[in-house]
Formats: sequence, structure tokens, C-alpha cells
Amino acid sequence: MRERFPDLKRHGSKLDRAIDVVLAGGVKEGVFLPSGRKVVTVVGSLGDEFVDPDKPYCSCSNFFFRVLGGREETCYHLLSYVVAVRTDMLDIIKFSDDEYGEYTAATARDVFEVIRKSGH
Ligand SMILES: [Zn+2]
Repeated sequence: MRERFPDLKRHGSKLDRAIDVVLAGGVKEGVFLPSGRKVVTVVGSLGDEFVDPDKPYCSCSNFFFRVLGGREETCYHLLSYVVAVRTDMLDIIKFSDDEYGEYTAATARDVFEVIRKSGH
């Protein structure tokens, strides 16, 4: 599958990880209606991470330390989002705006659990 992304090959093993995540259906976009707000989460090896492809931003420690630190270009969660969009494998889940708080709170709990596990 990585042959389909010649422009992403420079990411090496990160691209392989991203493809695995996408094939497992791990990239989810929660769309809240009628506002159209979006929350993207990627299920990684440790659990859910919040991703904002527009900024770009990811809640994982790799992004915080290496990407913001200027040592790496991106993390595999953000790469997963790119691959999911291009392969049309984004798992879009629609919610009503009323559910926004509950959904983000539940996801944030998962994210903090991941941070705790990864020891940062
Ligand atoms: Zn990440």
C-alpha cells in the first residue's frame, strides 16, 4: 500500500505504522451537527490521541517533544489522518452538538490515560 504514497515515503517506518492504523479503522472523525465542528481522533499503539490536522497538532508525546522541538516533521497519528483521507478510509461519526462535551470529555480521559502510561 505504501507504493500509493510516493510523496510520504520519506517518513519511512512512520508511514508503515500510519497505514496499519488506517487499515485497522483507527482514524475517526466526529462531526457535530448542526455546528459542523470536528474532532479527529486516532487510535494509536497506546490509545486514543486528539489530532488537529489543520494546525497541525497531535496530543501524543512524540509530537510534543520531537515535532514541536523541531527534530521531526510529523508524528504517525497525523500521517494516519493524511493516509485515511486519501484512501477514503476516514471513519466519520455524526453526533449532535449536545453530545460535544460528553464526547470530548470521554476522549480527553483516554488521552490523559495514554499520557500517564507513556510516562510523561
Ligand atoms: Zn501523534
